Amino acid sequence: AAPVARHRYDVVVIGAGGAGLRAAIEAREQGKKTAVISKSLFGKAHTVMAEGGAAAAMGNVNARDNWQVHFRDTIRGGKFLNNPRMAELHAKEAPDRVWELEHWGALFDRTADGRISQRNFGGHEYPRLAHVGDRTGLEMIRTLQQRIVALQQADAERLGDPDAMLRVYAETTVTELLKDGERIAGAFGYVRETGEFVVFEAPAVVLATGGIGKSFKVTSNSWEYTGDGHALALRAGATLLNMEFVQFHPTGMVWPPSVKGILVTESVRGDGGVLRNSEGKRFMFDYVPEVFRGQYAETEEEADRWYTDPDNNRRPPELLPRDEVARSINAEVKAGRGSPHGGVFLDVSTRMPAEEIRRRLPSMHHQFKELADVDITAEPMEVGPTCHYVMGGVEVDPDTTAATVPGLFAAGEVAGGMHGSNRLGGNSLSDLLVFGRRAGLGAASYVDGLGEDRPRVGEADLDAARATALAPLERTGGESPYLLHQELQQTMNDLVGIIRRADEMKQALDSLDKLKERVAHVSAQGARPYNPGWHLALDLRNMLLVSIGTAMAALERQESRGGHTRDDFPEMSPEWRTTTLVLRADPAGEQVTLGRRPLERMRDDLLALFERSELAKYLTEAELAELPEGER
Ligand code: FAD
Repeated sequence: AAPVARHRYDVVVIGAGGAGLRAAIEAREQGKKTAVISKSLFGKAHTVMAEGGAAAAMGNVNARDNWQVHFRDTIRGGKFLNNPRMAELHAKEAPDRVWELEHWGALFDRTADGRISQRNFGGHEYPRLAHVGDRTGLEMIRTLQQRIVALQQADAERLGDPDAMLRVYAETTVTELLKDGERIAGAFGYVRETGEFVVFEAPAVVLATGGIGKSFKVTSNSWEYTGDGHALALRAGATLLNMEFVQFHPTGMVWPPSVKGILVTESVRGDGGVLRNSEGKRFMFDYVPEVFRGQYAETEEEADRWYTDPDNNRRPPELLPRDEVARSINAEVKAGRGSPHGGVFLDVSTRMPAEEIRRRLPSMHHQFKELADVDITAEPMEVGPTCHYVMGGVEVDPDTTAATVPGLFAAGEVAGGMHGSNRLGGNSLSDLLVFGRRAGLGAASYVDGLGEDRPRVGEADLDAARATALAPLERTGGESPYLLHQELQQTMNDLVGIIRRADEMKQALDSLDKLKERVAHVSAQGARPYNPGWHLALDLRNMLLVSIGTAMAALERQESRGGHTRDDFPEMSPEWRTTTLVLRADPAGEQVTLGRRPLERMRDDLLALFERSELAKYLTEAELAELPEGER
């Protein structure tokens, strides 16, 4: 049998993006022997691509900002379906986490008086995103890596070995979580370069694997986003929440075809970019939904004044939450008012001098020049919706990030609840820091509670994990993983995409069921050292499991809300708001089941942050009747 390298840790963090690195730092600072595993190179996690910034109510640009306003914006953005405790912790702790990054060496852009600058973004009432040009994720990852190296240097001095307490395993992919009875006992995977197997024995595992976007054809997501963490959690017996909510970012590139889906940061609109259709009309004024009416400008003049006088004018409708803007663009294109390549126009060239555009949006300037031969300082971009983020994810305890399986924790995009039905831009980077830290703390305190009673990895489980991983290589005559991946992406894109209908989703589930048979017989050619076909064959299993769950949940939820739009149920329903959809699977990931659970009630002091008239747009009659006196 293929040999397996063995390592023993207190805490194993799967994922080296913002959430994983922050969790690993915390676990190590709590004295736990910690490993961080990533399937890409260290420093190449998806977080590095984040552009616009991290949302934190520091109040540096507008002193009226505070955690309560941030909380309210987050709940509005998620259409009142967020886990309220998570949204509260996030809004309260984000400023400290941004400050902490500065202490560790991050250099954010500055206000004129030297404070951390904050920019406007959709759905945020005040300028709130701490940023570094449009390359914020790069600075975040650089800083967190630097912090890890500093801790390793301290360990080298103290213990004679930089890896003694905190070690990074790059280009290593986890394919199974291992359990001892009900508890987590470790993780099994392979090293991409050599194809050798490796097992990490650890009582606590933190999932920080990011999202699922590579299951869709048009996506802003990197190759790593194959839903591994979501699938690992399901197969380990944990629950996933609200997987029907998938965010389609309104502005991805649409041309040329080779770059379709690549993100055009929301900062373009935050910094004054406007959307126009083929008739030159600034169409977003026609699409302000009832729940947001009164909060957004009604004329171009008022919207334009807001950029210089936000206290006396309402914000432009281009800055509505992402789900609203994406649906509006979709509708314009469908109505025949799209741009030549099937998008709409986004123009920042008439708003700012060329030099300022190059300074504020350097990556966008470069991206369009290099990839599309468009100079954004002189002409509009063509943009359209692209799959961007998954709001659904692993069900966790808000304070500790513990999943429903003992020893399993989840933070970052792989976790569910925080963003409700739609995430506000900038709220992910802050989420990674807030809940990454809490995951490190949660895992460390769980390990402390175990004492000598540690779970063990069983040999039979190791044999099974190894056999499953080797199967595509040992099989002959099966289909190509590349072909199957394309079919999966097309199915999800066309039938479970931005606008959904029951008949199409049933068709999708049918196709996914047939794909399941074929994926079970997928074969990869070649040997074990660096073999992308083999890697994809293993990823496919995860993408398929998660896609089936997403399609099932999307078919079940008969309303439109946030990142879930039903053509056949266009209204938002107060009854559905109180329902959380919960997915489970068997250990083989063969059978997925869907259940319902009531949404946690928001505490009275948090409810009191909203006007009753606003609550009436979301809550059921029964919920309204239960409101505290002052709110009725
Ligand atoms: P990631 O950073 O994706 O890290 C996942 C890690 O898990 C990687 O290291 C990966 O290798 C590893 N991994 C996955 N599967 C396995 C496995 N099986 N075994 C081992 N390792 C595994 N959000 C904002 O708040 N502000 C922004 O400005 C912003 N801009 C964005 C721009 C773009 C182009 C995109 C695509 C997203 C943007 N987002 C932004 C969203 C945000 O970047 C992500 O939600 C966030 O970075 C996710 O971080 P994470 O730590 O959860 O996961």
